[in-house]
Amino acid sequence: MNSFDREKNRITKRNFVVVVVTFALLTVFFCLAAIFSSFGYKQSLFASKDETTREAERVTVVIDAGHGGEDSGAVANGLVEKELNLEVAKKLEAMLQMSDVDVVMTRSEDVLLSDGATERKKLHDLLTRVKIAKQYDKCIFVSIHMNKFPLEECHGLQVFYSENNEKSRSLAETLRAYALQTDDKNGRVIKPSGKNIYVLDRLECPAVLVECCFLSNSYDASRITDEKEQTKLAFALFCGINKFIEEQEKESG
Ligand SMILES: [Zn+2]
Repeated sequence: MNSFDREKNRITKRNFVVVVVTFALLTVFFCLAAIFSSFGYKQSLFASKDETTREAERVTVVIDAGHGGEDSGAVANGLVEKELNLEVAKKLEAMLQMSDVDVVMTRSEDVLLSDGATERKKLHDLLTRVKIAKQYDKCIFVSIHMNKFPLEECHGLQVFYSENNEKSRSLAETLRAYALQTDDKNGRVIKPSGKNIYVLDRLECPAVLVECCFLSNSYDASRITDEKEQTKLAFALFCGINKFIEEQEKESG
């Protein structure tokens, strides 16, 4: 065998080795691919588990437009509380929906949440609102109301919070901080609701009741009937709720 033949032989051998190694690698690759695809259902099961956990951790914001139907709430300066509550609640709902927050409204129409069969309609209405919120494991309850007082000078938004959940206070404070940006004349501080507010007393989740203004005050009354001011108010509540959710998520890692 001359040197040319030896070289040719060496190259042939090398090619053979390359082919064998390539074949072996391809075989290993296809075997691994087959094994992984056969366990594919397990992977998707784990994936759906993560998804389920994430879903379970999602917060539902329950917006409660106070009163409704035969219960008008406060009436002053020609304004009816139940109507304004719903207008603000609907604006807030739309904003939260746009930012992909799960939202539930206790009422979307002018109705009392009572079947009418009971004599204690008002109590039944409040119970229904509590029941709606209790359907959600991770819930934030925000009740929207308007205030009224015999003294005309009383004005400004005020947030009441439930003491059943320690986070209610920080939700109230966050909402107040954003609301102040729309009305720097407002000096009202947040207050615990105690037993005075039925829905807050019955809920265990972070729960607040926002008295958005005093219908009996002419300054407040003119603002709450202005579409732009209503939107500003709803936006302040929206920012506060979002900030609260964000902070809770940070805390829980
Ligand atoms: Zn009210």
